[in-house]
Amino acid sequence: MIAQPADQYQDIRDAVRALCAQFPDDYHRRVDEQRAYPEEFVEALTRAGWMAALIPEEYGGSGLGLAEASVIMEEINRSGGNSGACHGQMYNMNTLVRHGSEEQRRTYLPKIASGELRLQSMAVTEPTTGTDTTQLRTTAVRKGDRYVINGQKVWISRVQHSDLMILLARTTPLSEVRKKSEGLSIFLVDVKEAVKGGMTVRPIPNMVNHETNELFFDNLEIPADSLIGEEGKGFRYILTGLNAERTLIAAECIGDGYWFIDRVTKYTSERTVFGRPIGQNQGVQFPIAESFIEIEAANLMRWEACRLYDARQDCGAQANMAKYLAAKASWEAANACLQFHGGFGFAAEYDVERKFRETRLYQVAPISTNLILSYVAEHVLGLPRSF
Ligand SMILES: Cc1cc2nc3c(=O)[nH]c(=O)nc-3n(C[C@H](O)[C@H](O)[C@H](O)COP(=O)(O)OP(=O)(O)OC[C@H]3O[C@@H](n4cnc5c(N)ncnc54)[C@H](O)[C@@H]3O)c2cc1C
Repeated sequence: MIAQPADQYQDIRDAVRALCAQFPDDYHRRVDEQRAYPEEFVEALTRAGWMAALIPEEYGGSGLGLAEASVIMEEINRSGGNSGACHGQMYNMNTLVRHGSEEQRRTYLPKIASGELRLQSMAVTEPTTGTDTTQLRTTAVRKGDRYVINGQKVWISRVQHSDLMILLARTTPLSEVRKKSEGLSIFLVDVKEAVKGGMTVRPIPNMVNHETNELFFDNLEIPADSLIGEEGKGFRYILTGLNAERTLIAAECIGDGYWFIDRVTKYTSERTVFGRPIGQNQGVQFPIAESFIEIEAANLMRWEACRLYDARQDCGAQANMAKYLAAKASWEAANACLQFHGGFGFAAEYDVERKFRETRLYQVAPISTNLILSYVAEHVLGLPRSF
């Protein structure tokens, strides 16, 4: 492993590394081959309290910040695992902690902290409107003490492994709001009850072992007190969760990046062709060094995003930039790692092809690189709006 200076999170790193060491490469490889959910791994993380990192102590969690949560995610990916199986619990948690009512917090957080309930899913994306979130068509109409949900979502992760799901739906028609971001609301949905009452789940097999689903809502009735925060302000609330999500994904990409650098430096130092280690050639060294430099730089932006988020300051720009830089750096490290393993990079037993597929996702989801560039161009630099 590349030697790095100890940081203030070394205790967390050491503890998460020790847990991850119980789940070596062949465990994650087998789960990937079987397209299974790493149930034992997520269970071990939950039992050790890591999945409750962001839950305040008064509700049974450890009351840590996003910085510490990001270290947990980074270490999972750095160990060869994939935080995609469980990261939803981290970023969804803050939406509930920051915007949920005291009653919602008291009802759900202790059970999530103990592992009795999982809050792994967040349903935002829709098939017809994609990244253009404010145009989404799923509606929630208030009827007495219920909301009636109709519509469709796509790519929703971990529904089969979650008890609760955060759902974004339109409560006021677009034609009746001043700004398109108004009139959207978020709800905490009981997944099992929803399946009985009008939500159909259709799995979407995909390139990585990341469980995704299409959801269809047909007059699903949920209790009115499922609403999180105030009606109509859901878009603003969801952005808090998305900034946490982007920062955590940045940390995961950084973990992936270090994993690729560890593997490729070891392999190219040992593999001998033309009578010398291939890593002695500058044509091999430079792409590895370049991607390492980019990972280190992305890491600085990740800490800045964490600092602002934990101080409850606006971190939209930093969270987006951290995710952009880290996803790009891990992808470049992945390319170098695959390339310099030669044919062996394609062999499942080396795990490089699996991690290569896994880290590629982050160029597209949870937000594509183009949309980050657009955000920075228009919201940070003030260039004319393109949409
Ligand atoms: C494995 C996986 C897991 C996911 N999990 C979840 C989940 O749990 N919950 C959830 O809500 N969603 C989830 N998603 C959805 C994900 O967030 C979206 O796929 C992503 O935001 C892109 O949206 P889209 O697929 O509709 O692409 P589109 O919006 O159709 O865009 C396609 C591509 O076009 C380009 N593009 C689009 N508009 C512009 C523009 N204005 N300027 C420049 N380029 C543009 C971008 O490059 C983009 O990648 C997941 C997706 C995947 C693949």
